[in-house]
Amino acid sequence: MPEPSFHTIIEPFRIKSVDPIRMTTREERQAKLEAAGYNLFRLHSDDVLVDLLTDSGTGAMSADQWAAVMRGDESYAGSPSYYRFEEAVRSLTGFRHIIPVHQGRAAEKILFGAVAGAGKVVPANHHFDTTRANVEATGAEALDLPCPEAADIAGRHPFKGNLDVERLDELLEGRSADVPLCLVTVTDNTGGGQPVSLENLRQVRSVCQRYGVPLFLDAARFAENAYLVKLREPGQRARSARDIAREVFSLADGATMSAKKDGIANIGGFLALNSDAWAERARQLLILTEGFTTYGGLAGRDLEAVARGLEEVLDEDYLRYRLRSVEYLGEGFRSAGIPIVEPPGGHAIFVDARAMLPHVPPSRLPGQSLACALYSEGGVRSVEVGTVMFGRTDPVTGDQVPAAMDLLRLALPRRVYTQSHVDYVIEVAGHVAERRDRLGGYRIVGEPSALRHFSATYQPVG
Ligand SMILES: *Cc1c(COP(=O)(O)O)cnc(C)c1O
Repeated sequence: MPEPSFHTIIEPFRIKSVDPIRMTTREERQAKLEAAGYNLFRLHSDDVLVDLLTDSGTGAMSADQWAAVMRGDESYAGSPSYYRFEEAVRSLTGFRHIIPVHQGRAAEKILFGAVAGAGKVVPANHHFDTTRANVEATGAEALDLPCPEAADIAGRHPFKGNLDVERLDELLEGRSADVPLCLVTVTDNTGGGQPVSLENLRQVRSVCQRYGVPLFLDAARFAENAYLVKLREPGQRARSARDIAREVFSLADGATMSAKKDGIANIGGFLALNSDAWAERARQLLILTEGFTTYGGLAGRDLEAVARGLEEVLDEDYLRYRLRSVEYLGEGFRSAGIPIVEPPGGHAIFVDARAMLPHVPPSRLPGQSLACALYSEGGVRSVEVGTVMFGRTDPVTGDQVPAAMDLLRLALPRRVYTQSHVDYVIEVAGHVAERRDRLGGYRIVGEPSALRHFSATYQPVG
């Protein structure tokens, strides 16, 4: 008798400790929203029913991770927790130097502080927003070179996270002396959580090698990328996600990592690299702002949680469930007639707010309108990734200069919500979609000078 195959993929864990969700009414939520200036970052999170604002640091730790937390050794220098962390990162990535940091952006600040600077240019498939900010803070240029398919929202190309190798070649031909390193973000968060193929990475590697330019990974979602390679890239099905992840790291000279994503930890990260000279400079900067080289701004217990999380994230039952949950949310939206970035990627579903609300022009912030509606109607928190986040106010006319796209991101925290939470989100979104004609736009009434989406305030228009 063959092994029966069932199509329902269950959460591969049981729940031993619960966090209650406080139910609210629409009237209460409307009042909270108004008091928050219609900015969902300004809400108290216990006024949210299902929180899909981000998958960063919001995952649930396992019993083994909590046990490891108790084993954490808080010695200032040379803690055994550091050596367990170092071993976990080195056996996964193979890099010579493993430098702990408190989160991904600290690794970025230290790396680019050591190697970038005025007159330099750092190419990438897409820089994540903190990565761009840290490259630019050194005076260097952050240059995005996404593959052409990345701009086609509804297209089903399997690897829209790929880097445009031809444009990289052109850049390096003219300016390789100005390029300290090339960065590949796996998966491509800014481009919709889209994966990068092994084939693309091998090509990027070979172009970089030809010009003597080091290749670095922004590895925040390396495990989700590895499993998407297994599922989508010809000839990769029989390999384990761990084996694919190891090959990806072996193609690079170093990596930055936010362990708040695929480290399944609430805080942590690392900078890992082979160059002795760069590691020496990075450690000096680390001591200046983060802490000694064996803790880097983390407690020993955090190092333990990350070490264990890096093992668990490559469990294939977990990865199958993880990617299926995202796909399931995407399928639900599609059947409700909600346009999404296709195909679903690794950690989130992105709704095409411009296509969904064609009567709300980009200058009236369609993504923000949808975010407010999902919260007031059903208590679901998401985040606008569009004109609020990447556009700007024209200083002369006061009008909004729109971003390239107006998207709404719903990111799934790791191991936190069950299928009925996801079903509920689909139902709320369907309810909002049926009433989409009644949704109006928003205007910004107060904004800070930088990273305005975190603290801006809004007013409904019309
Ligand atoms: C979150 C993230 C970062 C920054 O990491 P933090 O831990 O938030 O500082 C960098 N790159 C990518 C792709 C990310 O998703």
